[in-house]
Amino acid sequence: VWHSTPFAPPDAIFALTAGYQQDSFDKKVNLGVGAYRDNDGKPFVLPVVRKAKQILASDDSLDHEYLPIAGLPSFVKATSKLIFGADSPAIKENRVVTIQTISGTGANHYGGAFLSRFYEPWLGKSKEEKIIYLSNPTWANHKSIFNSTGLTAADYPYYDPKTIGLDLVAFLDFLRKAPKQSVFLLHACAHNPTGVDPTRDQWKEIAQIFKEKEHFAFFDCAYQGFASGDLDNDAWAVRHFVEEAIPLLVCQSFAKNAGLYGERIGALNIVASHAGDSEGGADRIRSQLLILQRQEISNPPTFGARIVGLILSDEAMFEQWKGDIKTMAHRIIDMRKQLHELLVNKYKTPAPGPNGWEHVINQIGMFTFTGLNPDQCKAMVERGHIYMTSNGRISMAGLNEHNVEWVAECIDKAIRP
Ligand code: PMP
Repeated sequence: VWHSTPFAPPDAIFALTAGYQQDSFDKKVNLGVGAYRDNDGKPFVLPVVRKAKQILASDDSLDHEYLPIAGLPSFVKATSKLIFGADSPAIKENRVVTIQTISGTGANHYGGAFLSRFYEPWLGKSKEEKIIYLSNPTWANHKSIFNSTGLTAADYPYYDPKTIGLDLVAFLDFLRKAPKQSVFLLHACAHNPTGVDPTRDQWKEIAQIFKEKEHFAFFDCAYQGFASGDLDNDAWAVRHFVEEAIPLLVCQSFAKNAGLYGERIGALNIVASHAGDSEGGADRIRSQLLILQRQEISNPPTFGARIVGLILSDEAMFEQWKGDIKTMAHRIIDMRKQLHELLVNKYKTPAPGPNGWEHVINQIGMFTFTGLNPDQCKAMVERGHIYMTSNGRISMAGLNEHNVEWVAECIDKAIRP
């Protein structure tokens, strides 16, 4: 009965990691996967997470019962405050609907599924007409997540390979020309894969058009804290859109900022226009999200929710977490500086764009879009044993003081004809 099942291609990122693991070269480097590593290239368990685990382990009152369908209440309440801010008008007015999800991927999936079922401008429309616009480029999984939830993924212009920066003019123009009430996915901060974020002034221009055109903002926030080292700073764009009363939802992930990759802890937040159970009210939205959750996973998992719930609700642990985030964000920023310094001053490597190697310092978050072309990326893998995707993206978290010199040398060799 499976004769017609075609062979699916392997996931590019995971295939890259497999190649890295099989490689016996002593200077090999994995710059493919977007997971934080410490200065010795090792996975990092945040000290605050270790502490939370100890507290949980010694709490005999904890059992293994099902969580409520919406998730662990203390987690659900605290996570929305983290992204919107405790003083957010949306939170004060009880307009935020939050459910715990299977990390950021699960939140994106529910976001797509919920829009497909209930986004009013799409009622009665076919899959082809339910278009979600994604930045070109975007996280590799976005397209397939949305295509699998009854939507059609399409591109909007975002990145300009000529400047290795934001193509603001084309982006704004596209927003203006798109049909009213279009749905746009926005990376809240630390854009993956480019590391190119709008400035606050640019966000304001973007928000202005959203308002005028009544577009829907589908925020994906997988790196809060990772961009600048400051949780509030990285939530600025989302909060600005809330203040401007733009219809929106936000996907959250604690994979990166709490290092809880495998625990699959995240949340989906939908902002309603008003509280209560009248038409358009938060309670109606919540009731439908609960149905969605029940159909897909019944109840969300407990462990990660308990860890994050504890960190977010204990003042001292919250402060410690902020410190841990700074440790990660600043190590990455330091690596940017070191790589830049080596390329510019030691190797004097010809840059792929008009602004020298400034983009290595200016880009934000875990990734740098180096500007290397596919052939140069291939050379990095084949000659340097440096594993990276063919679009030129490198994970800065894979760099450390022991390998940055080798990476810079290989970039130099790959670029020179
Ligand atoms: N969105 C973006 C933009 C991402 O980069 C990622 C992780 N690579 C995710 C969502 C989801 O990650 P997770 O499901 O591990 O939280």
